[in-house]
Amino acid sequence: MSRFFSTKYKNLIPYTPGEQPKQRKFVKLNTNESPFPPAPLGVKMAREAAANLGRYPDPECREISRIFAEKNGLLPEEVIWTNGSDDILNFAFMAFCDKNTPAAFPNISYGFYPVFAEANGIDYELIPLKEDFTIDCKDYFSLGKTIFIANPNAPTGIALSRDEIEEIIKQNSENVVVIDEAYVDFGAESSVPLVHKYDNLLVTQTFSKSRSLAGGRLGMGIASKGIIDDLNTIRFSTNPYDINSMTMAAGIGTLLQEEYTQKNCKTVAENREYTAGKLKKMGFLMTPSVANFLFVRSPKIAGKELYRKLKENGVLVRHFDTPILADYCRITVGSREEMEILLKTIELILEDV
Ligand SMILES: *Cc1c(COP(=O)(O)O)cnc(C)c1O
Repeated sequence: MSRFFSTKYKNLIPYTPGEQPKQRKFVKLNTNESPFPPAPLGVKMAREAAANLGRYPDPECREISRIFAEKNGLLPEEVIWTNGSDDILNFAFMAFCDKNTPAAFPNISYGFYPVFAEANGIDYELIPLKEDFTIDCKDYFSLGKTIFIANPNAPTGIALSRDEIEEIIKQNSENVVVIDEAYVDFGAESSVPLVHKYDNLLVTQTFSKSRSLAGGRLGMGIASKGIIDDLNTIRFSTNPYDINSMTMAAGIGTLLQEEYTQKNCKTVAENREYTAGKLKKMGFLMTPSVANFLFVRSPKIAGKELYRKLKENGVLVRHFDTPILADYCRITVGSREEMEILLKTIELILEDV
């Protein structure tokens, strides 16, 4: 730290992203990326957009908003685009939390929420999950706080139904409820249809997981016009050109080729059920995930040990070094070939313990 660093950030502990190793080729199952390449039309359009990189991109993202809105029964004014959904989540902390309105989120959830809160000097309440890692909606009624819920939740993959989400929104009509749908396309119910009914709902989504564009950095928010206006005030006060032309074009191509994404999501869901079945046969316990990852533990081997041995054998998964999660590993569901390698490697590791 230099002696110039603002005291307000002195104690800030940044988020630790999953490893992105370069030194050797791993079967990479640690950051929930898609095993499939981006939609071919997205790649083609991004290439074409590269020729025009001398010009600034459209700060209002009009074309991609129009296409997304049309496909989802929304108005373009009900959509905002950001550099990954991490940015829209950060904007939500900036826009809808302060001294009088702290944040609230589950004690086990996306590890970035507490970092956003700390970075913005916002207090937050951690609401414990139930013993089985599920969320009890009633714990979120009338909190008087801005609520953040990942649905499906991370790293458990467990989802609430749209009715349960609606109840939380109804019971917090004076506060914003943010539903982070990073993993919704793999088998959960989206809350997007509720934005016309409730002016206090913000849904965030990303192109990083189901849409194979993690490297492109494209995320979005869907909400009533008022909430989107507030978020645009923040966005246009920080970086109105945060979506570069190539990413915007890749996003448009991906939306225009929606059937490609849908097919991939279906394959991932099938691979998830296949892998879950095989792991259960090996004695693994797991949460009922509807996301593109499995959250698993084995009575035979500690989470960290499994992570370490898999890494030694060229398979990278995610381990969280906090007491409640330490028994577990989070494994991204990849292609069928990747899952076969994973299963084979685990089988060999378990023979040895
Ligand atoms: C991956 C992820 C995000 C953000 O991803 P971006 O790449 O920034 O769009 C947000 N929330 C959850 C729960 C995630 O797992």
